[in-house]
Amino acid sequence: MKPAPFAYQAARSVDEAVALLDEHGSAAKVLAGGQSLMLDLHYRRTRPALLVDVNGVEELVGHGVDDGHLVLGALVRHADLERPVVDDPVGALLAHVAPYVAHPPIRARGTFAGSLAWAHPAAEWCAVAVALDAEIGLHGPSGRRVVAAAEWFHGPHRTDRTAQELVTEVRLPLLGAGTGIGFAEHRRTHGSFAFAAAVAAVGVAEGRVAWARIAMANAGPVPVRATTAERALAGQSVASCDGAVSEAGAAAAREADPRPEPHGSVEYRRHVLAVLVRRSLRQALGSAAAQVTRPPAGRG
Ligand SMILES: Cc1cc2nc3c(=O)[nH]c(=O)nc-3n(C[C@H](O)[C@H](O)[C@H](O)COP(=O)(O)OP(=O)(O)OC[C@H]3O[C@@H](n4cnc5c(N)ncnc54)[C@H](O)[C@@H]3O)c2cc1C
Repeated sequence: MKPAPFAYQAARSVDEAVALLDEHGSAAKVLAGGQSLMLDLHYRRTRPALLVDVNGVEELVGHGVDDGHLVLGALVRHADLERPVVDDPVGALLAHVAPYVAHPPIRARGTFAGSLAWAHPAAEWCAVAVALDAEIGLHGPSGRRVVAAAEWFHGPHRTDRTAQELVTEVRLPLLGAGTGIGFAEHRRTHGSFAFAAAVAAVGVAEGRVAWARIAMANAGPVPVRATTAERALAGQSVASCDGAVSEAGAAAAREADPRPEPHGSVEYRRHVLAVLVRRSLRQALGSAAAQVTRPPAGRG
């Protein structure tokens, strides 16, 4: 099928893009990487009167560190994150997760911010954003506002963004030395969306879990933060936390809200989520331990 006819404008600045969105409201769609939008256009799932192309907006390009956060401009592509963009475990986590997002050609164009704007329940970056308490920066006709990832997702393909707003950046807190990271995903074929996925970050101090952050993808209509599972781990000795990790997996599966679908019953989906949460936690605990035992630079 061909897309329904639409007008096209290439914005040159955030202000120009916002002015166009303000003028056209829900009749306009932002074009970022186009890796989800073009499919929606072709299947006529959406029929915008206007596409506002933001790919030429210099202000949205690149990343940096600001006030304890890694700041990703809205044009940071999935592929830009395949190598750590910052010397902090958050960079390692993004690099670990990036290869799971679709295929290389899609990663070359698709954007991190576009993934959050599109809000697919199985999207890896959406789960990462919820696990890390990311903040989403928006510009609209009344100026700038920031939304916490916990408040961002309203449902599949529904977010806190209004039609007049442009996502300009995503802010991810730096995790700091001593933080372990983990990610585990089950998908039916290479490059397909996650059947289920789990992301974990674990802060370790003096041999104990100081804090844990866990979120799951495709575990409900929006990414699910597993707060009971996180509490089950806090304070546990890293050397002997197998039982707590198992308990956390089971708790996370209970916190999930999976829907039945042709490829798996609710029970099966919960089982897979429990397994993935345990795997991501074991990776995270392992990577935290490796930082403790790593020899100082320049020696052995
Ligand atoms: C075959 C295939 C497999 C895929 N597999 C995966 C996968 O495994 N995991 C995964 O997470 N994703 C997957 N995707 C989706 C891909 O990651 C997209 O790139 C991503 O979801 C959307 O990013 P984009 O930059 O391409 O956004 P676009 O397609 O340009 O836009 C998507 C939506 O978000 C809005 N939008 C985008 N940017 C902004 C902004 N800055 N401000 C306001 N609104 C904005 C658009 O208006 C549109 O409604 C897959 C896509 C395809 C085609």
